[in-house]
Amino acid sequence: MFTPPLARLIEQLQRLPGVGPKTAQRLALHILKRPEEEVNTLAKAIIEAKKQVGLCQVCFHLSAESVCEICRNPNRNNNIICVVADSRDVIALEKTREYGGKYHVLGGVISPMDGIGPEQLNISALVRRVSQQKVQEVILAISPSVEGETTTLYVGQLLKPFTLVTRIAFGLPMGGDLEYADEVTLARALEGRRELD
Ligand code: ZN
Repeated sequence: MFTPPLARLIEQLQRLPGVGPKTAQRLALHILKRPEEEVNTLAKAIIEAKKQVGLCQVCFHLSAESVCEICRNPNRNNNIICVVADSRDVIALEKTREYGGKYHVLGGVISPMDGIGPEQLNISALVRRVSQQKVQEVILAISPSVEGETTTLYVGQLLKPFTLVTRIAFGLPMGGDLEYADEVTLARALEGRRELD
C-alpha cells in the first residue's frame, strides 16, 4: 500500500505512545509535504535530545547538565524532597507552581511481575541523600496503584528513621496517574499531604 521508505516511517511513528496507525499515516504524509530543511531540523532535534539529555546525578530528573536546574536553583528549599516515580511527574508538579522544594525521581515503581525490584530503582541513592543531608520532610508523590502503594510503603519505611515522611492526599482513583491530574487537583493533593502511617 505504501512505498517502502514511507512504510518504514509510518511503522516507526506508530511505535510512539498514543500514536495509532491512522495518526502515524497522517504524521508521515505531513512530514513528506514539509520542506526538506524543516524535516532535517526535526530529525536533528530528536537525535540531539537523545544524545544530550541524561539524568541529574542528584535527583535523576532529565537534564542536559550533570546536575539539573532544579537542584542547582538556590531559591528552592533544600529541606524538602518530593519523591516521584518518573520525570513526567516532576513536570506535572512543576506546572502547579505550588512546590518550592527539591525532587527525587525513582525511575519507576516496584513491580515484581515486570522484574522491577527496589535495586532497579534509584532508592539507595535517595536513602543516602536523606541520611547525609538535613532533610526536614520527604513527600511521597507516587501514583496510586498496587505497585505505587507497595513502593510508597517500602520507601517510607526506609526513610522514617531519618526524617518526617508524608504522602500526598490523592483525590484520584486507584490507577489514576499523577501526570493526568489537573493542576488544581495536584496542588490540592500536595497541600493535603499527611504523615505516612
Ligand atoms: Zn536534579
